[in-house]
Amino acid sequence: MKRLSLLVTIIMALLLPQLLNARTGVVYGPGASAFSVETNKDAQQVKLRIYNAGLGGKPIKTVAMKRAKGDGTTWQATVKGDLKGKFYTFDVKYGGKFRGECPGIWATAVGVNGKRGAIVDMEETDPASWNADQRPSIAARDLILYEMHHRDFSIDESGGFANKGKFIALAEPRAIQHLKELGVNAVHILPSFDYASVDETRLDEPQYNWGYDPVNYNVPEGGYSTDPYKPEVRIREFKQMVQALHKAGIKVILDVVYNHTWNIDGSNFQRTRPDYYYRKNADGSYSNGSGCGNETASEREGMRQFMIESVKYWVEEYHIDGFRFDLMGVHDVETMNAIRAAVPQDIFIYGEGWSAGSCAYSGDLAMKANINKMPGIAAFSDEIRDALRGPWDSNSKAAFLGGVKGNEESIKFGIVGAIQHPGVDYSKVNYSKAPYANEPTQMIAYVSCHDDMCLVDRLKASVKGISMDELIRLDLLAQTVVMTSQGVPFLLSGEEMLRDKKGVHNSYESPDSINHLDWDNLERYPQVMEYYKNLIALRKAHPAFHMGRADMVRRNLDFLPVENCLVAYHINGRNVPGETWGDIYVAFNAHKRARTIEIPAGTYTVVCRNIKCNPAGLTTVTTKDGKVTIPAQSALILHN
Ligand code: CA
Repeated sequence: MKRLSLLVTIIMALLLPQLLNARTGVVYGPGASAFSVETNKDAQQVKLRIYNAGLGGKPIKTVAMKRAKGDGTTWQATVKGDLKGKFYTFDVKYGGKFRGECPGIWATAVGVNGKRGAIVDMEETDPASWNADQRPSIAARDLILYEMHHRDFSIDESGGFANKGKFIALAEPRAIQHLKELGVNAVHILPSFDYASVDETRLDEPQYNWGYDPVNYNVPEGGYSTDPYKPEVRIREFKQMVQALHKAGIKVILDVVYNHTWNIDGSNFQRTRPDYYYRKNADGSYSNGSGCGNETASEREGMRQFMIESVKYWVEEYHIDGFRFDLMGVHDVETMNAIRAAVPQDIFIYGEGWSAGSCAYSGDLAMKANINKMPGIAAFSDEIRDALRGPWDSNSKAAFLGGVKGNEESIKFGIVGAIQHPGVDYSKVNYSKAPYANEPTQMIAYVSCHDDMCLVDRLKASVKGISMDELIRLDLLAQTVVMTSQGVPFLLSGEEMLRDKKGVHNSYESPDSINHLDWDNLERYPQVMEYYKNLIALRKAHPAFHMGRADMVRRNLDFLPVENCLVAYHINGRNVPGETWGDIYVAFNAHKRARTIEIPAGTYTVVCRNIKCNPAGLTTVTTKDGKVTIPAQSALILHN
C-alpha cells in the first residue's frame, strides 16, 4: 500500500507539469503540486513562496522556479508533499528588481483580500448534488434581466435575511420567493469576482462598493462570503447561490470587468508581465479608455486568451449562464466574437457598447455601432433609456416621461430592438442615426441601472413638483415601455419596491442607507409590485412582445402616427407563432391629460390601462368610431 502511494506520488510529480494548461496557476495533487506562471521574455528570476496563511507569517518554503522549454515565457515548479490548505505567491524579477509578490493571473482560490493564491481541492468545494446542477434553458428572447448588488439586496433588516449582504442570501427562500413572484428569470449580479475596495479583514464594519476594481478575476469576492479567510468557503457559497437560483429556474449572469484593473503597479498582470496587458499611448503613457486609470489590451494574444479562458472557467466551474461586459467598447470586436464562439450558444452575452474615454486601439472596438459585427452579443440601449428619463449628462433634464416632446422616434427605436424597421425615422433618434442590431435580442431595453440615478430619484429630480401619484404613474409607464420592447428587458433591483437612493447619482461607495432595498416598501406601495409582476407575466405569456427575430418584428409590428409625447403601435399577433391574441394595440401617453388614438372599430379586451395591468383582462371596450382613450401618464394595451 505504501509502495503504491509512493508510486502515485512519483507519477503525479512527473505528470503535473503536463497537466498545467493555460488557465492554471497551480495544479494540486495529494503527493505534489505543480505551479506555473507566465512572464515576459526578459524575466530574470521567479520565486515561488509557500505559506501557511493567506496573510502574514513567513514563507514555509521558497522555490526558484525554472524556465520551461518553449518561448521562454513560462516558468514552472513542482513542490512535493500535500500542500492542500497552503497559500502561494509568485515574485518575478526584471532589471534586477523583484516586482512584488502576487497570486498570478490564473489563481482560482485565494486567501483574504486576494493577496496569495490558495491550494484547494476544487472538487471538495462542490455543494451536495452540484453535478446535477444545470443551467436553466431560456432563450435570449425570453430573458427578463434583474440587475442586483448582493449588499443592496439583502443588507437591510427589513429584508429579514439570515445572511445579509452575502452570496448565500440569494439561496434563502425569501429571495427565491420574491424573484419568482416578480417573474424575472435571470439575475445579473454586480461584480462578484475578487475586488479590491472592500477590506475583507474588516467585514464587521460597514463597507460598501459596487466592485468595479478587479483583483483576482477567477475567484469569488471574499466580502460576500461568510469567511474570507477560508478560501474554499467563498467558492462553495457561490456555487450554493447558483444552485438555488438554478433550481428556481433563474439564470445567473456575471458582471465582468476585464477592461481595467484596480491599479497598474499592484496588479497581477503588471507584476508578472509588465506592460504586456495594458494599452499605451504613442507618448508611452497608459491609455485610459476605462476612465479608471488604465485599459487592458484585449487584442493582444495573452489578454484575449485570458478573457476567453476566464469566461469559460466561470461557465464550467460555476455554471454561469451569461456575462455582462463592463465598458465592452474598450475591447476589440475580434475578442468579443472569440469569446462568443468559445462558450455554448445559450450563454447570454451583452455589454456596455461604449467606453469612458478614448482607447489606444485603431481597429474595430466592441462599440454599440459595431454590434452588427458581433452576432449573438447585445448592447445596452441608451437611446430608449435617455428618451424616457432624460440625457445621461444631466440629472435634472427630463424627456418623454417628463412631457418633453421630440423623444418619440428614440422610443420607437427601442421598441423594435434597435433593428432596421420601416416605421422608425432614424434621423430623429437621439444617439444612433442608424439601426445597429441585426436581431432585436442584441439590444437591452432599460430605463435605469446601478449607474446614474435610479428611476424614482430621476423622476423627482427632473419633473418639477412631481406628486407621489404622478411618480408612480410615470414609473409604471416607463417600465411598460421597457417590458413590451422587442429587445431584452432589464430592471434594476428594487425598482419593483419603488427604491430610491436619496438622490445620489453615483452611489458606488455610498453607505447602505443609500443603497439598500427597503423591503417595507412592498407594503407601502403594493400597487407597484403588483403592476410589475403582472406586466412581466404579460410579456412572458405573449410571444408578440418578444418575437426574437428582426424579420418578424418588421412584418408584424407597425406604428400608429406619432404625436408629441404619445407613441402607439400595433402587432399582428396572428402571424406570431404561439401568440393567442389577434390585433394588439399598445400606447404610451406621457401627457398630463388623456389622449385618444384611432384603431379599427370593434370589441377589444383591455389588459393594461390607467396604471392597472392584468394579462387575463381588466375589462372590454367596444368602439364604433375606433377612438380609444389613454388616460394621462400611463400605458394602454388591448387586443382582440
Ligand atoms: Ca476582495
